[in-house]
Amino acid sequence: MLEKEYDGSWDKIKRVLGGKGAGLAKMYSLGIPVPPGYTITTAGCNKFIALGNVFPPGMEEQCLSALKRVEELTGKVLGGTERPLLVACRSGAYMSMPGMMDTVLNIGLNDVTAQAMIKLTGDARFVYDSYRRLVQGFGTIVLNIPDEAFEEPLDEYMKEHKYAYDNELKAEDWIRITDIFKGVIKSQTGSDFPQDPYKQVELSTKAVFLSWNNKRAFDYRNVEGIPHDLGTAVNIVAMIFGNMGDEDSGTGVAFTRNPSTGNKEIYGEFLFNAQGEDVVAGIRNTLPLQALKDKLPQCFDQFIENSKRLEDYFKDMQDIEFTIEKGKLYFLQTRNAKRTGLAKIKTSVTFCKEGLIDKMTAIERVTPKDVDSLLHPMFNDSELEKAIKTGKLFAEGVNASPGAAVGRIFFDADKCKEMADQGMPVIMVRRFTKPDDVHGMIASKGLFTAEGGATSHAAVVARQFGIPCIVGASEIQIDMKNLTVKSRGILLKEGDWCSVDGTTGKIYAAKIPTKEPSLDDQKELLELLDWCDELREIEGVRENPNGPTRGLQVWANSDKADDALKARSFGAKGIGLCRTEHMFLGARSEILARFIIADEEEVKTKALNELQALQTSDFEEIFTAMTELPVIIRLLDPPLHEFLEDLVSLTEKVATSRALKIDDEKNEIMLSHVKKLHESNPMMGLRGVRLLIVKRELVKMQVSAIFNGACNAKGKGFVPIPEIMIPLVSHKGELDSLQPEIEELAAVILKERGVEMEYKFGTMLEIPRACVVSGNLAKSAQFFSFGTNDLTQMTFGFSRDDAESGFLLKYINDGILPENPFKTIDQEGVGSLMKMAVKSGREERPMMDIGICGEHGGEPKSVEFCSSIGLTYVSCSPFRVPIARLSATHAIIPLLRKMKKN
Ligand code: PEP
Ligand code: MG
Repeated sequence: MLEKEYDGSWDKIKRVLGGKGAGLAKMYSLGIPVPPGYTITTAGCNKFIALGNVFPPGMEEQCLSALKRVEELTGKVLGGTERPLLVACRSGAYMSMPGMMDTVLNIGLNDVTAQAMIKLTGDARFVYDSYRRLVQGFGTIVLNIPDEAFEEPLDEYMKEHKYAYDNELKAEDWIRITDIFKGVIKSQTGSDFPQDPYKQVELSTKAVFLSWNNKRAFDYRNVEGIPHDLGTAVNIVAMIFGNMGDEDSGTGVAFTRNPSTGNKEIYGEFLFNAQGEDVVAGIRNTLPLQALKDKLPQCFDQFIENSKRLEDYFKDMQDIEFTIEKGKLYFLQTRNAKRTGLAKIKTSVTFCKEGLIDKMTAIERVTPKDVDSLLHPMFNDSELEKAIKTGKLFAEGVNASPGAAVGRIFFDADKCKEMADQGMPVIMVRRFTKPDDVHGMIASKGLFTAEGGATSHAAVVARQFGIPCIVGASEIQIDMKNLTVKSRGILLKEGDWCSVDGTTGKIYAAKIPTKEPSLDDQKELLELLDWCDELREIEGVRENPNGPTRGLQVWANSDKADDALKARSFGAKGIGLCRTEHMFLGARSEILARFIIADEEEVKTKALNELQALQTSDFEEIFTAMTELPVIIRLLDPPLHEFLEDLVSLTEKVATSRALKIDDEKNEIMLSHVKKLHESNPMMGLRGVRLLIVKRELVKMQVSAIFNGACNAKGKGFVPIPEIMIPLVSHKGELDSLQPEIEELAAVILKERGVEMEYKFGTMLEIPRACVVSGNLAKSAQFFSFGTNDLTQMTFGFSRDDAESGFLLKYINDGILPENPFKTIDQEGVGSLMKMAVKSGREERPMMDIGICGEHGGEPKSVEFCSSIGLTYVSCSPFRVPIARLSATHAIIPLLRKMKKN
């Protein structure tokens, strides 16, 4: 019964009574007007289903006695001929499943009680409108008759009598409709509509229990991850009639704040002379709440006052259903409101400022998805819906870099750049991308590829630059000869419009308008993120032997000064990975190519000098942008062949020239170099530290550029903090082979320039062996950074470029792997190696900085894991910095709460 507050935590109460039942009970105990009623628990539902859809022993008796109590409280009697009690039978699960289960209204009406109700109310129209709703609801929900069997004859009747809206029908019309509906039940089931009110209650209760397992509810639970064994509670509550006239009755739905913006304003709709689902069903145009204020100001004030009490009690924005019967207000339901990411952030911050919740709770309420939703362009919702409805969904792939982009498609990087330079919005379409394509990618609004996974080149670069990107859309067929791409029966030609949703992984053959977000306008988000940083700075929020006991820091991966500035404005406290190879892209790759293929020392030196000059100014700009913050610069990592033309296309060119007997010396020479550099397994070949050891002149060039760039920045009053990082190390011998040379060169440059500067020398941990021997590596390396892209590749033995468009998605779909390890750190395998490496590293060098700079550094679950194993920082693409700041704080809140208690 609602009189007695259930003893237990709110969560426990909801598990037993369901959200609706618990809400009603709580409202009753707060003195808010609710209709009398009782709730059959979720356990009752589960027992009913377990017994093969039979009420468990004792349930019927308990319900009957509860019903008696409702009769006493209302002074009405079920089936009574003087003051008949009418009740609603409503579903209500622990977790909100809006509209997924069933409700039957106006139970208790029959041919006799209808007459009693008319006598009582003097309103035959209202009574028969209610009666026909019961017959219709009972028919569809309890007897499983299709909706159309009722809707069609009603439509016909309205057309015949020239009614546009249902509130135009008169008493005699509803009497006629009730008869027609009874006839539908008879013809569909062979039986009459049951006149016994107790039978109506019993059958409706059973039907609502069963609606827990209807297909709609089942599918919804699968999508939302709601367990299937929770069951629904059933609420039998006295009917309140919003359909007792146009003047003083009606029904409404309201949010205590604006659910789109989070603004502090009551937001709702109301319908006079309407009942139940009418507002949500949209059968009539609803009115704003102002209409209620104008007509029934007292009810409105009472509604506002009680809504405020509910918000204060639940300390969260509420979504409320209410009904007014003859000027008396009743609350039928209250629950924490669903809202947009923007509204979630805004309400969390404002509730905290209003003193209802503390900062930790405000931060906990906001999810990484909420933050993400504010950081990327999004499609206009109604236009997106239109595109889907008109069959414009073109293909799906891996959602590699979030955001929405619209443009005309082009298949070649140069062409993309050329068209973009002319001001055209461009979408790049490729089978896969390589460093050669980067200038085209950067110029494009978005891109999609047929191959590759979440850490493929296209994905990494796209995230780096915040370009919406889908990779591994294997259903698309690209025809490079005719410059077309085909999928799902749609053919797109070069220059056709296309829209890419990197958040969902969907591609549309349509031009869908987008809306641009900007962090500058996100006052509340910025404030929330500052709170996050504040909390992580508290001493002792992590129990971390030999490591930092403050929270994780968030750094960014960036290799351009303007990106570094963006990262800094997003709250990054350092650059965790500057991929120097990205500085050799576009026109500069030609200089590097000259170095690679040159035989004479002179040509080589000239090329290196050119590169050094360019890199020096690049580094100066980055150090300037990141003044007083650390910048980790990784020396050249990829295999050199990536900077030359592709072997296959070059072989084709040369073969064609040979066949046509054309002298093509340039390509012949290039082909011989590419062949020399060719490796069967380049990702495990001459790259990273191995390349640096073999090509020491590259190391010299890069280290000179770093220190000269740093000295230049310092000369202008900035404070550079350089850290040099060696990639792909597996053995201490590799570090020791490079370290003395680097230190010597740094000392010479700093002496020459007359500058004093601290710097660090460290290594990436990307190979399982490096993790195993990290204690030894820490003898030479002053810091570690986990390159979890390669570490995942090498630990699983899965190619990071091919696995996701091959077997890996099948693995995940079939449940062979729980998650994509290239997106979320595989804690069992890769994570164990990381833990081991942290422990041994810090045993050798306590408090050493250990971070992560693989793509996992911005993924919420991985960030929480990195916090738990004691890393110093996570480094991710600038656009993911705000998400990482939030996730890193979520990770320490349990300990913060514990500290607060003690
Ligand atoms: C890594 O392997 O995780 C990493 C950051 O390096 P890259 O992606 O450049 O190989
Ligand atoms: Mg790597």
